[in-house]
Formats: sequence, structure tokens, C-alpha cells
Amino acid sequence: MSEYDFDLFVIGAGSGGVRLSRIAAGLGAKVAVAEDRYMGGTCVNVGCVPKKLFVYASHVAEDVEDGAGFGWSNSGNLSFDWNTLRENKNKEISRLNGIYGSLLSNSGVTVCDGRARFVDKNTVSVGDKTYTAKHITIATGSWPFIPEFPGSEHAISSNEFFFLPDLPKSAIVLGGGYIAVELAGILNGLGVNTTLIYRGDLFLRGFDEDVRQFAKDEIKKKGINLKFNNNIASISINNAATQDGKVSYSVTLEDGSTEQTDLVLAATGRKAHVQDIGIENVDIKLNKAGNIIVDENFTTSVDSIFAVGDVKGGYQLTPVALAEGMALANKLFNNTPICMDYENIATAVFCQPTIATVGLTEIQARDRFTDIDVYKSDFRAMKHTISGRDERTLMKLIVDKESDKVVGCHMVGPESGEIIQGIAIAIKAGATKAHFDQTIGIHPTAAEEFVTMREPV
Ligand code: NDP
Repeated sequence: MSEYDFDLFVIGAGSGGVRLSRIAAGLGAKVAVAEDRYMGGTCVNVGCVPKKLFVYASHVAEDVEDGAGFGWSNSGNLSFDWNTLRENKNKEISRLNGIYGSLLSNSGVTVCDGRARFVDKNTVSVGDKTYTAKHITIATGSWPFIPEFPGSEHAISSNEFFFLPDLPKSAIVLGGGYIAVELAGILNGLGVNTTLIYRGDLFLRGFDEDVRQFAKDEIKKKGINLKFNNNIASISINNAATQDGKVSYSVTLEDGSTEQTDLVLAATGRKAHVQDIGIENVDIKLNKAGNIIVDENFTTSVDSIFAVGDVKGGYQLTPVALAEGMALANKLFNNTPICMDYENIATAVFCQPTIATVGLTEIQARDRFTDIDVYKSDFRAMKHTISGRDERTLMKLIVDKESDKVVGCHMVGPESGEIIQGIAIAIKAGATKAHFDQTIGIHPTAAEEFVTMREPV
């Protein structure tokens, strides 16, 4: 009989916490997980899942427009109803919440409905109950961060975006990362007059330079108003509400100009969610950015307490949290050492067109290797020869000349996420440019371009 109520107590039922709990329970551990908000965390409720559903919605008008060249006509008035989309999305998310709940209970995990707070290094309280556990894991994820400036309380974050009561006529999106470009693309696709404001020279810092430049050109063509080297100085509510009684805002930018808008959405990063879990009752160390410090085994500064996913900083990506949860479960209950490999993590930005990437950027590759070859292809996809749309696709391969290994692969174009996932396997397996060249293409696809690039630029 263990001296503890549980072998493992997990705080947070998001991507990392659910995976960790399920796998640990499957390995025979007695596991509990506490969640006070929603099953599935950010990804399921206010992140990846609703975002992707909204991206589909925002493509429809363009797809209908593209149909004209193929003989389709839309003689009626094409109209869009935000309430239908939002409610159908809510229904789907509730379904997923239920699935996450049953996955846990079917695995034998005890689900505690409420906020867990540390009492000591082996004890947490949830409401008026306390539980002891040999191991406790913090998997509380991250939370949107909005910088403070006059009127910043009028800006919403991605959390609220997914539940807006009405679709605004105009919107300003602040930021130049994943969320800003993705949500700006959704708003624009749904017919909202959208402006994206980014403080630097070019958004998507950290991505390959060609990708950033190319994405900028394509996103601009879609009609998003891009303002770089600027920032919001203040937001004030306009006194006179619009005719339909809605509020609108005057937004003053750092260059002194003023914009009128119905919505300000700040997508200015996410911070570790460590508030109100009683970390002051245990000696858990945070780094300067506020993330929980862990070692390579996800152990915090307290030996019985671990952290996985966004809360410890690093890659804020669902598949990374899943892999970390799985690795920790296997370490604690299956005697398997943790060897997470953070190299070559493929990722996609669901802006329009989508960006997907795996491996090094050209600048990183030049830094790491003495000599590299770069292959690039910039073309108009077959579909647009008839749709007439002025949209281009970019593909780029970076090869270490000495080993012939493909060390970076980047794409901006439709379905790039689907394509790069396959390429990521090849790169993980150490594929060389010769392997790419020996691969027979699938014709006619955009993806075949990756196996037919012969001349380095
Ligand atoms: P990011 O860290 O990606 O981007 C934040 C942006 O806000 C940057 O452009 C940053 O500028 C800007 N910014 C930060 N502080 C300020 C400020 N004080 N004033 C003005 N601008 C500011 O965060 P996101 O919120 O976009 O996303 C958070 C994380 O979520 C991402 O890193 C990603 O890992 C994950 N995510 C993944 C997705 C996917 O896989 N498709 C989708 C959405 C999110 P600067 O560049 O100058 O620092």
C-alpha cells in the first residue's frame, strides 16, 4: 500500500497533461488530473482546433470566386453568418471536451473538477479536498499576454476571439507571430477589413527570410493592410456608438497616425500559466520570462514536481507537449530514460497561404555548415491557371554540401502543412538531396516540385 493517495497528480488537462495522465494510467500508475476550465486545454478550446475550423470557413469565399473560371457561378448573394460558424464550432468543441473526459475516465484516471493548488511538495488541494501524490506534474500551459498601454484593456486576446458575439466590420491585429498572422487571415477571409500592425521590419521573426518576404507579398495580395515598424500607442472608445449600437475604437499608433476600428486583437505572445496554483508553497524556480525551469527529465527545482508543455517555455506546440507527456510517463512508470529530440520539429502557420517548415532556415544553415546549396521554386499553382488568381507558391530546400543532407525545407502555399509533414520524416531519417532526386514525383502536384529541383540558386 502506497503512503500516497496517487502515484501521479497532474495539474491541467490540456494536451500535455491528458497525454501524460492516460499513458501513466495505462502503465499501471494510480493517476489523478485536476482541471478547472475546459478539457483539452488551449489547443482544443481556444487554439489549434477552433482556429483550423475558422480557417476552413474563411477560405470559402475565395474558393467560390475561384470556381468562376471552372464554370461555376454564384448567381445568388453569397452570405456568411458568424453565429452559425461560432455555434457549430462550439458544438464540435463540446464533443471533443466529452471525448477527452471519457478518454481519461476510461483509462482509469481520476478527474478532479477544480483548481489544484500546491500545499507542499507532495500535496495539492482542490476545493476543500487535499490529495497526496508521489509525483506531481504542472501542465497548466500558457496564457495570452497583452502589453500595457493606455486603453490596452480594450484589446481582446485569442481567447475571446473565438467567442465574439458579432463579427466586426473592421479589425486591427497587433503582433507578428503565429497567432497574429493566422487570425488576421481568418478575419480577412471572412470579409473583415483587417489591418495587421507589427513592431519590427517584417513579421514572423525566426522563419526563413525568403518565407517571411514571400508570405508578406501573398498576404498583402489577399487584402490585409500590413503596417510594419509601428505599434499601438493607445486605444480609446469612440463616444458615439455606431448606428447599430456597437462600440468602435480610435487607435493611435506610435507614428502618430490614428485608425478607426471595431475590434483590436492583441496577439503579442503567451506566458506560462503559473498564477494561483500555490507555487509559493513549494520552492519552484522560474526563469526571467516566468517559465518553470526544468532539467532534461522535466524535473523542476523540487524533485517530486515536474512540468511539461508550454508552462516550461520552449516550443509552444501541441505535438511537443504530447511528446513530453508521453516521455515523462514512460520515465516515471516504465523505466525509460527521457531523450526528447527538439531538432527538426516541423511546424505550420495557418495563415493564407499556409507556411510550413522543417529544419534550418538559410541563415541558420550558413552558420552551421561551411557550404550549403539552396534550391528554390516560385510558381503559380496549376489551379490558378484557370481560376486566374494571382497566388504563387514558394518551395525551398537547403542542403549541406559536404554530407548532401537536406537540412531545411520550407514552403508557402496551399496544403503546405500536409506536404511538409511527410518531408519531415525524410529529414528526420537523414535524407540526402540524392534521395530527393531519386524519388519519383506524384504528377501533377505542387509537392512533386520538391523532388524535381535540380539547379541550386
Ligand atoms: P509569438 O511569440 O509567436 O509572437 C508574438 C508577437 O508579438 C511577435 O511578433 C512579437 O514581436 C510581438 N510582441 C511581443 N510583445 C509585444 C509588444 N509589447 N508590443 C508589440 N508587439 C509585441 O506569439 P503568438 O502569440 O503569436 O503565439 C504564441 C505561441 O503559440 C507561438 O510561439 C507558437 O509556438 C504557438 N502557436 C502555434 C501555432 C501553430 O502551430 N500553428 C498557432 C498559434 C500559436 P517580436 O517578433 O518583435 O518579438
